[in-house]
Amino acid sequence: MAATGSCLCGAITFEIKGPLRAVINCHCSQCRKWTGHYVAATAAWKRNLYIRDSADSLRWYRSSFTAQRGFCGQCGSSLFWQRDGADTTTILAGTLDGATGLNTAAQIYVSDKGDYYCLSDPQAATYARTGHSIHLTHDSGSVSEKT
Ligand SMILES: [Zn+2]
Ligand SMILES: [Zn+2]
Repeated sequence: MAATGSCLCGAITFEIKGPLRAVINCHCSQCRKWTGHYVAATAAWKRNLYIRDSADSLRWYRSSFTAQRGFCGQCGSSLFWQRDGADTTTILAGTLDGATGLNTAAQIYVSDKGDYYCLSDPQAATYARTGHSIHLTHDSGSVSEKT
């Protein structure tokens, strides 16, 4: 069954027809500024992600030399993280509709996390300084790092 999601105002909706990666929480300073807290995100093959944006609301902010962050220009929802040339798109888990069946597999950049909260899922593997290059296989959710 395909997963669906949307931004807060509904101008952008999307559908994912294939598997979703386990969720990774990123506590880096960019993700914290972008969302106002931290990023909890799944990912999908780019070719399986179908975005409907009838009001031309999707905006991309280039947050680094290698990646852009997609958000809704109407309501401000943080939606996607896209590494240049990657065949996967990172999708913020909170934008998905209903039950996801996903679990949280890893916490990354925890050395940058805010001091006002505790790590929410102690079962997840924790990485102090792992970057966004962390890669989880789509099927099993097992963690390996790209070099
Ligand atoms: Zn919106
Ligand atoms: Zn981050």
